[in-house]
Amino acid sequence: MIRPNSTIDAIPAGEPFVGPERIMRERGLKTMLRLGANESAFGPSPQAIAAMTAELPRLSWYGDPDSYELRSAIAARWNCNRDEILVTSGIDELLGLVVRCFLAVGESVVATAGTYPTFAYHAIGYGGRVESVAYREDGCIDLDALATAAQRCDAAICYLANPDNPSGSFADADAIARLRSALPARTLLLLDEAYAEFADARALPAPRPLPGIVRARTFSKLYGLAGARIGYGVAPQALLAPMLKVRLQYGVNRNAQIGALAALGDAVFARDVLERTARGRAEYAALGAALGLPTLDSTTNFVCFDCSSRERADEILEALLQRGVWTRKPGMAPLDRCVRVTVGNESDRERFASELRAIRARVTV
Ligand SMILES: *Cc1c(COP(=O)(O)O)cnc(C)c1O
Repeated sequence: MIRPNSTIDAIPAGEPFVGPERIMRERGLKTMLRLGANESAFGPSPQAIAAMTAELPRLSWYGDPDSYELRSAIAARWNCNRDEILVTSGIDELLGLVVRCFLAVGESVVATAGTYPTFAYHAIGYGGRVESVAYREDGCIDLDALATAAQRCDAAICYLANPDNPSGSFADADAIARLRSALPARTLLLLDEAYAEFADARALPAPRPLPGIVRARTFSKLYGLAGARIGYGVAPQALLAPMLKVRLQYGVNRNAQIGALAALGDAVFARDVLERTARGRAEYAALGAALGLPTLDSTTNFVCFDCSSRERADEILEALLQRGVWTRKPGMAPLDRCVRVTVGNESDRERFASELRAIRARVTV
């Protein structure tokens, strides 16, 4: 009989995310306000759209497998060499490559229980053991617990999303440096910086490749190119070189490379998205305070509303969905008492606020 390999065979069927399209199909919804995946409500830069549109007829060509122009532009911003940048089909592909290259079957990785799930998904898929540590009660990542767990299991990889999803919390450069030095020397620190652009640049680790760390960046969030699937890793060349041996050679969409390059060049648009996102976060915080659903501090393009218990959060999430507003919520305590809502544009937020007010009038928290 034909069987998958024993690693794959042992994994129960499942997926990290149920897509909003399936939710719409299953519920028979014709329209749905998408505030569940932290997609940008402000779209891609008009310059990115123009560049991609102009190049559409050349989709008969493969993209440049070296992503030479894009890597050059990224390396210039990071003051580093091109070979310290690896362009991938989003951060999600990079997470898989890091696991494939730096984890051996049976080894352990550490991550926070309930953080962005794709890292653990890959670790399990490549035969690793996932050692989880809990969030702190305040919703922040417990960096000390991550280091302790990594020492205990001699982890191959420690995964940290910073700023974090779903909590929105942020650890500054000093905290990251302390974590790195508390980890075993052999442990790779995989720093998922999908939301780094939303943080104060002065609080982030220095913008260069750092020893023992693979930093992951994406064009999906600030730059509004989630559907194009493009991101990159920044790391010392010795950490990226193994991935070049096994990556999918033409995995990065040609048009995505062109859009990402144009997006990088449109600083005015990016600044505008940052400002509008900050306004949206402040509006959500005021709304939460007014409704008795206080928000957690967020350094991202989403906000967690604290509904005080898992049951209430489930109820509010479901009530929102019944009104055509799609959000998500963290699956694990202590954050499972929250509903996570992407910052929409002005009209999205107006709609969300009015639905939440209506629901709040019925739900006792
Ligand atoms: C959205 C998100 C990603 C996905 O990035 P892609 O580049 O779209 O694959 C990765 N990590 C975190 C923490 C995210 O929130």
